Amino acid sequence: MQLDFFKKPYAAFDLEIAKPIPSECPDCKSRDHVIPHFADRSLSVCDNCGYQDQNWRFSLDWRQFMPLGISCAALAFFDEFGKRHVKFWQGRPQMTPPEVASMLFDLQAYAQRYTLATWNGAGFDFEVAALESGLVNVASDLCLNHVDPMFYIVARKGWRLKLDKAAAGMGAVRKVHTVTLSDGSTLDHMSGAVAPELWAEGEYTAVLNYLEGDVIALLDVIEKIAAAGHIAWQSNSGRGQVLHIDGQLPTVKQCFSLPPANIAWMINKGGDPPTPAKVMQWIGKEQVAALTGGRSWQ
Ligand SMILES: [Zn+2]
Repeated sequence: MQLDFFKKPYAAFDLEIAKPIPSECPDCKSRDHVIPHFADRSLSVCDNCGYQDQNWRFSLDWRQFMPLGISCAALAFFDEFGKRHVKFWQGRPQMTPPEVASMLFDLQAYAQRYTLATWNGAGFDFEVAALESGLVNVASDLCLNHVDPMFYIVARKGWRLKLDKAAAGMGAVRKVHTVTLSDGSTLDHMSGAVAPELWAEGEYTAVLNYLEGDVIALLDVIEKIAAAGHIAWQSNSGRGQVLHIDGQLPTVKQCFSLPPANIAWMINKGGDPPTPAKVMQWIGKEQVAALTGGRSWQ
């Protein structure tokens, strides 16, 4: 049994990319006409052909747009007096490679006292930071020793879950969706996808406020998941779902030792489910093989 006394508190990390990634209508393939649904933020609409669907149906694979650049990043944590802090890193128009490297070294220092936590950091944030800094080993080491509940879900279930859904299911603080721009107007559909354009337009405060809300919400979700020992959310059909965690939230590295997800049925149906090995391919083939022990199902 682990003693809670020795458990490090969590520190939640997130970053915003500098390059806008276009949305594409899956129906008419237009990239210039995808707009948010006027009432439901989970939906997008194509005002060229009228197609309407879940936002993710309009998403393109970000890998084809690399390098993405990093505009800013943040870490939320509580100090020993229970006071919350948010540490920022930023660059204009984007962080330079030495600035990203310096951020990774800062994170190494924080990791001495805190357990770093992300939502999809294994499949995004640390990979982007590795590429932007050139320090794959440093990013990989931070990543393998941090906790990423979405990576845990990938390992256990073979699919991904949005942070917003987990935040709702855990009764946690929600993400910021409205930000104030420098001319005093408000933007109601703020999201990570909008951040690159805003940053390029010099709306630094709006993006940093959004990012701050993001890491504060993330820290709350992480702490609630850790305290509850499970992740709860509502499925698309509205049913309550719970995924239990045996013991403490496992690190990314520890997730490779979990019993594999049952993904055969998804592959049989022509799907391409994410696996720990696929998500972490950016650290290198040999490094991944060392983690899976050569088990091909991972
Ligand atoms: Zn269309």
